[in-house]
Amino acid sequence: MRFAHLILYVLFAATAACAAIEAAPGADESIAIVGATVIHPERDGAKASEPDSTILISGHRIVAVGPASTVAVPQKSTVIDGRGKWVIPGLVDGHVHFFQSGNLYTRPDVADFTRAVPYAKEVARNQSRLPATFKVWLASGVTSVVDIGGPFWNFEMRDAAERSSEAPRVAVAGPLISMIADPKLDLGDPPIIEITSTDAARDLVRRELARKPDYIKVWFIHRAGEDLAAQEAIVRATADEAHRAGVALAVHATELIVAKAALRSGADYLVHSVMDVPVDEEFIALAKTNRALYCPTLFVIPGYQYALSNTWQPTAAELRLADPQIVAAMGDLARIPSDAIPPNVARRIAEGGPITPPDVAMRNLQSVANAGITIVMGTDAGNIGTLHGPSVFREMTLMQQAGLTPLQVLRAATVNGARAMHRERELGTIVPGRLADLVVLDADPTMSVDNASRVYRIVKDGRVYDPDVLIRSIR
Ligand SMILES: [Zn+2]
Repeated sequence: MRFAHLILYVLFAATAACAAIEAAPGADESIAIVGATVIHPERDGAKASEPDSTILISGHRIVAVGPASTVAVPQKSTVIDGRGKWVIPGLVDGHVHFFQSGNLYTRPDVADFTRAVPYAKEVARNQSRLPATFKVWLASGVTSVVDIGGPFWNFEMRDAAERSSEAPRVAVAGPLISMIADPKLDLGDPPIIEITSTDAARDLVRRELARKPDYIKVWFIHRAGEDLAAQEAIVRATADEAHRAGVALAVHATELIVAKAALRSGADYLVHSVMDVPVDEEFIALAKTNRALYCPTLFVIPGYQYALSNTWQPTAAELRLADPQIVAAMGDLARIPSDAIPPNVARRIAEGGPITPPDVAMRNLQSVANAGITIVMGTDAGNIGTLHGPSVFREMTLMQQAGLTPLQVLRAATVNGARAMHRERELGTIVPGRLADLVVLDADPTMSVDNASRVYRIVKDGRVYDPDVLIRSIR
């Protein structure tokens, strides 16, 4: 770092508490990461790791990648010593919700803690805390996220992220087209809207299309005895209306028959695992026909179980990189009214044995991956126990436990995540011409994907961030 830069940085850091180490350089300046092992998750086997490499960044983009001996570093460059480090493309979380916080009060559903913190107060908190939530994502090496459904103010959240230099890139869906009502969540701008006819579905899609969504999302809840064909017609009308405007359809469908109905209706993105029975050939064929993405969200159910049994413990990554307010609030369970958790839920958790994702979801991930379906890493962050930011490391560890190789998991979290963002030409790989979104790690993520949590620096859009500085700025 040149002296003038250092002075500027110190002044800027002191006055604005800006966590960027360096401003995005002008056209005549550059950043060089020298001597690192560069990981290319789009490649197979040994070709995925290129040791002793240099990455050169100019402005917002990567301009050169190659052996350190051949990539010339311009004199004015800011140099990051990459020796003993690994560089991966910026991570993408394909399933988050910014209107939810991840703590106990995030939204009343299986357990209702609104007597301790009213839902309106919690949502107001989440809205005003957005700048901090953006920072925890960035600090965790997550340079892009898909918010796959929330109130209409989600579109303003996307604008705020775009304006901020300390935020991930955000793709967004608006309110969910839902098969069921959830009046508790209606504060005037509900995240979930019950739709009972194809006309109503088309109307809501049009209202959302006016805000230029990246996805239209359906909450496809099907209960025994309900008319699946009638529900499928609503999903098909939704898909037609979205596709006519060139917008992709994301669907929450957790049972095999529902997921197949979603795919038959035109779903482009399944945002959860099939959790009830093993996937079959028909499912695989439908997913292939649609070229659908599949996001397993393995941690979200254990996240609830840990929290509601008061056994949720922060990981080392969460202690370092999560919003400290949320980590602290996770300890509130001991102090809140005992009737907040319905007895049947408490009993199910107590009798359920060790807390793990549903077995069938783990096996389905392996089957779907083996069949060549595109897997996207996503956490469903914002739900109870699944914290914004470092929960990506919990999710990736579970994907590895399900049988994916570290490289497959990294691919799901980068290359395939870029597809979920609809930005695969600009994001997800370390190639000249791509946007400079990178994570510099202190350990090798191809040995174990757990090492992806060893974040040393983040580069987003050509700016360098120190994760610890980002988190200190929100305490
Ligand atoms: Zn979700």
